[in-house]
Amino acid sequence: MAKPAGPQCNLRCKYCYYLEKQHLGSSQEQGAKGRGQGMTDKLLEQYIRDYIGVQQTPDVLFAWHGGEPMIKPLAFYKQAVRLQHYYGRGKRISNSIQTNGLFLTPEWCQFLHDEGWLVGISIDGTKEQHDAYRLDAHGQGTWERVVESIKMLNDYGVEWNAMATANHYNCQDPIAFYHFFRDELKCKFLQISPVVERIKEHSDGRHLAQLFDEDCPIAPFSIRPEEWGHFMCAIFDDWVKHDVGEMFVQLFDATLAGWLGEAPGVCVYAEECGHAAVMEQNGDLYSCDHFVFPQYKLGNIRTHGLPQMLYGTKQNRFSRLKREALPRQCRECQWLKACHGECPRLRFLRTADGEPGLNYLCAGYRIFFQHVAPYMDYMMQELLAGRPASGVMSLF
Ligand code: SF4
Ligand code: SF4
Repeated sequence: MAKPAGPQCNLRCKYCYYLEKQHLGSSQEQGAKGRGQGMTDKLLEQYIRDYIGVQQTPDVLFAWHGGEPMIKPLAFYKQAVRLQHYYGRGKRISNSIQTNGLFLTPEWCQFLHDEGWLVGISIDGTKEQHDAYRLDAHGQGTWERVVESIKMLNDYGVEWNAMATANHYNCQDPIAFYHFFRDELKCKFLQISPVVERIKEHSDGRHLAQLFDEDCPIAPFSIRPEEWGHFMCAIFDDWVKHDVGEMFVQLFDATLAGWLGEAPGVCVYAEECGHAAVMEQNGDLYSCDHFVFPQYKLGNIRTHGLPQMLYGTKQNRFSRLKREALPRQCRECQWLKACHGECPRLRFLRTADGEPGLNYLCAGYRIFFQHVAPYMDYMMQELLAGRPASGVMSLF
């Protein structure tokens, strides 16, 4: 995952953790040297050459993230495609870009369509739900502009997915949330990420806590564990009656994969973190997008080899720690096959017997897995018998 514009963003979402990174590590070093410019063309070329070179399969996926990656002009991405063609001979190259959608233009959409890029659009539900937190730099809601951008993507035949958060506000009305994506946006792929942050005031201007900070209050916009569980149960109940095989909700797919003993396709529900390293605009590489802190820096592609950083001891240890640091409560949990203790960044609770490392959302996941278990059992049996999982809808 590359962040060509670093943490820069045109929005000021109230729950954003990434803007905090402007105060940290690489961005501090970058500061005087020109924050605002993002990744240079020279670094872009090195990144594309090295990234293609490190792949062991014929398929290479480039993922462009932010902040807001479209702060970099379209010419930057056209150059990226030229370089991919040049260095990628014999490889099948694909690209995805995650955006808030506000910079999309007809020219951008034509490019995304012609090059076959997949677009992840951040949108949090209905106008009321989205505008609760997703504000621009003037404090104005952004929902109308995002919906207009999605219409433009549709007009140009660009493939897109919705990336929503579940937070303390929109979790109050899961059905309005789900029906908006299904019926109004006609969305086919929906990724829902729970927002959880804790407050801690730092002398350098940051407001959010890191994993090892203790006794920090939960930020008001965060979803609470039980809210998360009930929110996903309500959406699941609608989905399992009407939309299996038609609409793909990442948590439901990942859970079914866990039932089948397969890889879930998303790191948070996987046994180990995998290779989710993130590269900042100045070439600094970190273990994960959620761990852009100095102690998780793997090096810089200008001075360190990409293979050594991606497959070296430090990153392997980071990846394995997800499994090795599980508390006993998780290791003995009946839902471990689908949960795997979820993301380590949220493991700041203690278990009932005082062991550290329990995920903050555990109570919500237990509600969810308990609720969906009979349906997951049924869908698993259908798939093992060679029939589609959508057969589960005939139960209703
Ligand atoms: S820390 Fe969380 S988000 Fe990062 S790679 Fe691991 S599971 Fe994924
Ligand atoms: S449901 Fe809770 S106890 Fe079970 S694996 Fe997940 S976080 Fe651990």
